[in-house]
Amino acid sequence: MKLGFGESQSPYSSGSQSARAWTEAWVGAWAYCPHCGNSKISTFRNNSPLADFFCTSCREEFELKSQKGKFGAKVLDGEFKTKCERLAASNNPNLFLMNYDLNTLAVVNLFIVPKHFFAREIIEQRKPLAATARRAGWIGSKILLDRVPESGKIHIVQNSIVRPKELVLAEWQKTLFLRSESPESRGWLLDVMKCVEALGKSEFTLDEVYAYERHLGDLYPGNQNVKPKIRQQLQFLRDRGFIEFVSRGRYRLRS
Ligand SMILES: [Zn+2]
Repeated sequence: MKLGFGESQSPYSSGSQSARAWTEAWVGAWAYCPHCGNSKISTFRNNSPLADFFCTSCREEFELKSQKGKFGAKVLDGEFKTKCERLAASNNPNLFLMNYDLNTLAVVNLFIVPKHFFAREIIEQRKPLAATARRAGWIGSKILLDRVPESGKIHIVQNSIVRPKELVLAEWQKTLFLRSESPESRGWLLDVMKCVEALGKSEFTLDEVYAYERHLGDLYPGNQNVKPKIRQQLQFLRDRGFIEFVSRGRYRLRS
């Protein structure tokens, strides 16, 4: 994998336009499918409203978003209604997020948020476009990247270093169990995963996760039984091999 956009690409002219061409060409040339390991992914011939690439081997679909600077807490995305409708669909795209450097014309970071990390809770509705806008009334969406657990941000390139492909594929496999959950029930699971990660240690206690009771209660104001809900999610994560049970009230993150 070479990180440079290459000299064959269209010369730098109007900023975002040529950057889009470069980043798309780069993904088509160098990115592999993180789901099945296929060495290439292909561009959709006709512009698809949501996906940019697909894998000819396993049919996974991918959307690419790229920008110069690092992505912040929220990422602008497509139409809100379409996004929500596609959540449960088998062809909902995985999301590639790329940062590039315009001086060196190269990829700096490329990570992927697998589609099974998309729950209704991480898609925010934007305000409808003003009546004066060309697409007046159109409602876009934002992806709340800060609500996605770290295990849902799989780096292929990190700080200009290409990570080993085996590592990327293994990280991808580790959370595939989330696909068996509906997007509705996934939200809780992802939020508890995020709390467990936030503890920042491989072994932790139930009480330590309970410390997030208030935080989780704020995220789900309708739920009065946060502690039982936490226990339920931990049990699920244990059954799926994401964490393991050490002793009464003690868990360990599987590496
Ligand atoms: Zn594939």
